[in-house]
Amino acid sequence: MHAVTSRTALVTGANKGIGFEISRQLGRAGIHVLLGARDPTRGKAAASLLHAEGIAARFIHIDLENSATIQAAATVIEKEHGRLDILVNNAGCRRDGDGLPGKASIDAVRRVFEVNFFGTLAVTQAMLPLLRQSISARIVNVSSELGSLALNGKAGWEFAHVKLLGYNTSKAALNMLTVLLAAELHDAGIKVNSANPGFTATDLNGHRGHQSVEQGAVAATRLALLEDDGPTGGFFNAHRQEPW
Ligand code: NAP
Repeated sequence: MHAVTSRTALVTGANKGIGFEISRQLGRAGIHVLLGARDPTRGKAAASLLHAEGIAARFIHIDLENSATIQAAATVIEKEHGRLDILVNNAGCRRDGDGLPGKASIDAVRRVFEVNFFGTLAVTQAMLPLLRQSISARIVNVSSELGSLALNGKAGWEFAHVKLLGYNTSKAALNMLTVLLAAELHDAGIKVNSANPGFTATDLNGHRGHQSVEQGAVAATRLALLEDDGPTGGFFNAHRQEPW
């Protein structure tokens, strides 16, 4: 087993919100954090903030809609670390024009999928050879309860009014990626889980969420730091398993 201090994590969309806080919590646990951001100025500023707190963090340029940046990030990590121990697929978006299935702009739905599903898949595929070099790698897909088919079909559910075709289906697709990838990587010892942060006050929802980012980061951080006897192929919030 590596010493905890030698482990390296990549967190996408880490310049703010839940991703920034996941980076902080992983850093406090002694993980070397690569703070992924699509905007170098914002990414470097965020890395400096963590650095000032004594966390081993550095910015890495990664835009989920730009495959050249994804490949370049994998090349840099390969060269500088030789492997990756933790991948937290946190970057995600909502788009104007998303909405009810009968009305949503198809362009908006496609653009949500481009980041939340295809971009995440591209990052995961690019990082897989590096994750395979780790003796106990972890992949965490930051999903949402809005991606749960079971909850969306449940009468009286707290978020039943949030019917965003693009966003909800992109997170449901991400959950399927979790299940299929966990099975594919089971024998390689790589654990893959989906995290539901819970309704968290960030830019994504105009800061209407009920939770702090500290609370919103707990589920993903815990899954990133899972012990070898922990679960794989599951969907968890900070307290319990979520229904698919
Ligand atoms: P946020 O504050 O808006 O942060 C989203 C992050 O994703 C930002 O760093 C953003 O970068 C990045 N991002 C967006 N598009 C990107 C792209 N093409 N390439 C690279 N990075 C990109 O939102 P958040 O609430 O922290 O969201 C983090 C994750 O939690 C998302 O996957 C979201 O779906 C999920 N989630 C959030 C809640 C909630 O209540 N907040 C609930 C459930 C799930 P820029 O700053 O450059 O835009």
